[in-house]
Amino acid sequence: MRLLVTGGAGYVGSVCARVLADRGHQITVIDNLTTGNREAVGADIEFIEGDVSAVAPAVLAGADFDGVLHFAAKSLVGESVTDPHQYWQGNVVESLALLDAMRATDTRRLVFSSTAATYGEPEQVPIVESAPTAPTNPYGASKLAIDHAITSYCAAYDFAATSLRYFNVAGAYGSVGENRVVETHLIPLVLQVALGHRDDIKIFGTDYPTADGTAVRDYIHVHDLAEAHALALEHSTPGRHDIYNLGSGAGFSVREVITTCREVTGLQIPAEEAPRRAGDPAVLIASSERAISELGWRPAKTDLSVIVSDAWDFTSKLGDRAHSAQR
Ligand code: UDP
Repeated sequence: MRLLVTGGAGYVGSVCARVLADRGHQITVIDNLTTGNREAVGADIEFIEGDVSAVAPAVLAGADFDGVLHFAAKSLVGESVTDPHQYWQGNVVESLALLDAMRATDTRRLVFSSTAATYGEPEQVPIVESAPTAPTNPYGASKLAIDHAITSYCAAYDFAATSLRYFNVAGAYGSVGENRVVETHLIPLVLQVALGHRDDIKIFGTDYPTADGTAVRDYIHVHDLAEAHALALEHSTPGRHDIYNLGSGAGFSVREVITTCREVTGLQIPAEEAPRRAGDPAVLIASSERAISELGWRPAKTDLSVIVSDAWDFTSKLGDRAHSAQR
């Protein structure tokens, strides 16, 4: 298939673009490089720099695309609370421009990068797709708004769309992994402490109603996530908007993640207790049963130590490269 990948220089987008290119698809990436890395896009992938709203209409009009995978987004919970404008503009306005460019060019197959944050504080875990959506922060709310828009575009304009609601993505795929200038995610930050690039890891909140008082998340390997995108593309049906949760089905507390990182790296990794971060739910664990039964998804790297080990492989090499670049 000929596929447009927005945000294909970012973490999840670049891994998905790589996996799809390796499967023989012809990929064009659009990315404005605000958080993405040009080096994460392989030489065999066409790259166009710019905002989705600025470049997607012409790109889609210029060739016959079979589908779009839409990753380009702002994705930090804390930042969405302090600067919501970026989220309504970057996620909602930009995504609507993409949907309308798709409509104008009769490109109706879409896989959208949605999020567990659309559910908010869950009433029940594991979270199923029919659970109420009540986001606790503007990030989740902006993604949910687009999910609603997509549902209506499927009904009215015959789009064939799938939203994948990711839980906590981690790990790496060969030379592509998490490499942000401003890092806020737990696993890469803990590994930066292991490398000595930070003094300690702050544990945000120790008074949650969980076994050890720290927040619990469901970590999914980025390669398993990419596989789900490939399956979703094949499965998309005109007139339908399918929504799937993607996680490993197990929850790990912040303290458990830090312990696993200590075991994998063999390093001490100092940690310090800190107040809760605004907008963070206590527990997010996915039920991925629907993706398993309907898409035939078979996550292969569900063990947290495998996820951390792949992330460590990537981060430690990156650390060496960054270090030698400074010398
Ligand atoms: N977290 C933490 N210290 C950090 C970064 C994150 O304690 O330096 C916690 C955060 O509060 C959340 C969990 O780790 O409970 C996962 O956060 P992350 O930012 O990785 O992903 P999110 O769940 O926000 O998508």
